[in-house]
Amino acid sequence: MAVKQQLQNIKKKLPPSVSLVAVSKTKPEAAILEAYEAGQRIFGENKIQEMALKWEHLPKDIQWHMIGHVQTNKIKYMASFVSLVHGVDSMKLLQAIDKEAKKNQRTIPCLFQVHIAGEDTKFGMDDTELLDIIDAVEYKKLKNIKAVGLMGMASNTENKDQIRDEFRYLKSLFEHLKAREPNFEILSMGMSGDFGIAIEEGSTMVRLGSCIFGERN
Ligand SMILES: *Cc1c(COP(=O)(O)O)cnc(C)c1O
Repeated sequence: MAVKQQLQNIKKKLPPSVSLVAVSKTKPEAAILEAYEAGQRIFGENKIQEMALKWEHLPKDIQWHMIGHVQTNKIKYMASFVSLVHGVDSMKLLQAIDKEAKKNQRTIPCLFQVHIAGEDTKFGMDDTELLDIIDAVEYKKLKNIKAVGLMGMASNTENKDQIRDEFRYLKSLFEHLKAREPNFEILSMGMSGDFGIAIEEGSTMVRLGSCIFGERN
């Protein structure tokens, strides 16, 4: 099915409070343009250099989200334009993003990635590591990043109860932190296989790739 059609089908399933990141990693610019022409403006990539090339070539009103693991030495390639970094999982990374944002005289919105899956293959912090960052004096000194919420990936499993529990845990952590972090407003959870559950559990932002653009190679 065409990208435009897929996008329209998905949008019917999303409540107005949930924003959609169209995950276009590995997909050609033509496919992104098709989604763009159907009204989509937020795209997610997991490789910084691939995202930077697409940013150069494609319409400038696209908002680019970095959803993958970030290597500190590559932040410079996206610091001038990235609109949200989903995968912040250390103080060191946060400081590096702050530094590059400052060079570009801007503030970069970030999400803390929390490890919620049973598998240990996925990136992210546990709640103690996250609290250590938020409580640190260095954190308060960072003026060019803005932490706006949390991101998490559930286990890749058929067990829906497990997925639900993982999302529910992230939502409770989000609510807990919101009380002290006034800028927290985004809870990024849900991919093609589990976004229905994520929305039921309080997601405000879903990251969908294959159900819009088809399977990746
Ligand atoms: C690839 C990716 C997605 C999208 O996955 P689909 O299953 O294709 O929807 C979402 N989030 C992250 C972090 C990803 O790397």
